[in-house]
Amino acid sequence: MNSVLNNPITEIKGVGEEIALHLNEMHIYKIIDLLDYLPYRYEDYQLRDLAEVKHEERVTVEGKVHSEPSLTYFGRQRSRLTIRLLVGRYLVKAVCFNRPYFKDKFSLNQTITVTGKWDQHRQTITVSDINFTPSTRDKDIEPVYSIKGKVTVKGMRRFISLALNQYGQFIEDTIPLPLLSKYKLLSKIDAIRIMHSPKSHEDLKQARRRLVYEEFLLFQLRMQALRKYEREQSKGIQHSFSVSLLEAFISALPFPLTSAQQRVVEEITSDLEKPFRMNRLLQGDVGSGKTIVAAIALYSTVLSGYQGALMVPTEILAEQHVQSLKSLFNPFNVRVELLTGSVKGKRRRELLQLLLDGKIHILVGTHALIQDEVSFEKLGLVITDEQHRFGVEQRRVLREKGESPDVLFMTATPIPRTLAITVFGEMDVSVIDEMPAGRKTIETYWAKHDMLTRILSFIDKELVKGRQAYVICPLIEESEKLDVQNAIDVHSTLTHHFQGKWEVGLMHGRLSSEEKDSVMKDFSQNDVQILVSTTVVEVGVNVPNATMMVIYDAERFGLSQLHQLRGRVGRGSEQSYCILLADPKSEVGKERMRIMTETNDGFELSEKDLELRGPGDFFGKKQSGMPEFKVADMVHDYRALEVARDDATKLINSKAFWVDEQYLPLREVLEKSGILTGEKLD
Ligand code: ADP
Ligand code: MG
Repeated sequence: MNSVLNNPITEIKGVGEEIALHLNEMHIYKIIDLLDYLPYRYEDYQLRDLAEVKHEERVTVEGKVHSEPSLTYFGRQRSRLTIRLLVGRYLVKAVCFNRPYFKDKFSLNQTITVTGKWDQHRQTITVSDINFTPSTRDKDIEPVYSIKGKVTVKGMRRFISLALNQYGQFIEDTIPLPLLSKYKLLSKIDAIRIMHSPKSHEDLKQARRRLVYEEFLLFQLRMQALRKYEREQSKGIQHSFSVSLLEAFISALPFPLTSAQQRVVEEITSDLEKPFRMNRLLQGDVGSGKTIVAAIALYSTVLSGYQGALMVPTEILAEQHVQSLKSLFNPFNVRVELLTGSVKGKRRRELLQLLLDGKIHILVGTHALIQDEVSFEKLGLVITDEQHRFGVEQRRVLREKGESPDVLFMTATPIPRTLAITVFGEMDVSVIDEMPAGRKTIETYWAKHDMLTRILSFIDKELVKGRQAYVICPLIEESEKLDVQNAIDVHSTLTHHFQGKWEVGLMHGRLSSEEKDSVMKDFSQNDVQILVSTTVVEVGVNVPNATMMVIYDAERFGLSQLHQLRGRVGRGSEQSYCILLADPKSEVGKERMRIMTETNDGFELSEKDLELRGPGDFFGKKQSGMPEFKVADMVHDYRALEVARDDATKLINSKAFWVDEQYLPLREVLEKSGILTGEKLD
């Protein structure tokens, strides 16, 4: 686009070579960059009623000078000037530090405005700015820009205002008229003008609303275009299987599917039958029955003459899945095998050969599955369980294995709606939003660490009834060593406490897989009644007789993770309990514990978690893949995000979008991102 907006910033009066260099450092090169450089906050000189102002808040008030100023020096340089000010009904103090020359400027009964920090207890404003002739200030709200080098905030204000006057009229709208009028959005020119020089908070709100929508719409257009492209342009496997054989398998299950399970099975199998490649996310709360759905999908691929792979994050989980899949599939002559890092030597070579010969139908394993030496004869479907624990890179390698197999990502950490439609916006999503009938909710309590003795006797009471208990100690990556020690300490305390009565086992990531195996086996056979463990038991582990869980230092976990952990109990028919041991210091920490005791709904928790911790922390730093927005906030502007997603989907799938003049600016944005030509969006 050849617009004057692309002219260099040196065309602005006052921007010489040197200033231009500093502006370049702020990524401002062209006029358009200058106009798009939005304030990061505003200085608010709007008058406020002191009754509404919180302690330590910044405020601007208008008042009458009520006393002669009093000036005190401490040392030669430092001074304090105090006056009494009548603000409405309140008599308050205004204090100016180190500006003795103000003393002569005040006269009694004069009206002035002061800006500064409000100390509610002392009824004092520590002044940062005084206006002795209030009516002359032209603006109540002034933009503040982040700046570098020789550029000043005042300079930025001047450059931008010049740029707006000279070039503002050339700003074009990207959003077509029908959408602008549908949502009563400001034009782009108006929105940009207001952002740089707002008259009121209401104006600012409207300008922001418009820019947020634009940002989301463009983002969602990219996502939806990518999704459409991946669906329609990707060459995938067109599975074809006998529906009656699949139904025979489903009716042989020990229970009927819930209607949510039926629905997602339908969504997945119909994807499998289509010629493009499936790229689907399956979400379901802990215990909602994802494993069965995975098994049905795997059976479909086997019935079509292909092999399936199930990839999970830990060896324990892999072993459990193998066991349950074997018992499901044995009657159907489907061969299921396990491949993890600890399968070695001859056994490994044999397995790899069988896999290559197509003798193994379903392979279950850890990330060992995606190593180069592992080749399938005919891989048709890859499923990953607890998907977000695999990095983005591993996800990609996985999709490139074999002849573009269909891919299903499963996750038991319900992903907040916001993130599901941003981070995973290019995927299709299936949700199991219903629990199998007859589940009891897990009663959750929050206790302080000093109540440990009572908790131990609670554990004892459950064990007397024949049940078992987990005791979880935190493990966070940065200090793994320390935390393992933590589990070891707790283990020895409990062993001592329950000596001669109950067996206490210990599980953590430092054990060899043989050791882990044998501990898990002891626990699942009830040879061990109490399992002290780090979070390695977090995902998937299934011991229905365990009805009790105690989580040490619960405040160190995220809500979703606590929910995951808690999901290890409540798997049988008995009432289960979860006790969170925590002494959180902050209000947020306390709030989190309260939320845990109040809700058992993983989706609700994940939303709360996101609100409390923010998007950056939700998945952990390593692989957040979080998009960055300039104006918009994914959490608080969620409604707009949803609306923009729906609009983007409709646009992308309409014919008009690809031909009409009015959509040209939007198409140009897509073209620039390379999606329409099939290059990747990153
Ligand atoms: P998750 O979604 O956490 O992976 P699982 O697949 O492990 O859940 O299922 C949890 C438990 O619920 C398992 O014991 C499973 O056999 C059982 N289950 C799954 N689907 C149903 C159903 N439709 N009716 C009754 N029980 C079910
Ligand atoms: Mg599972």
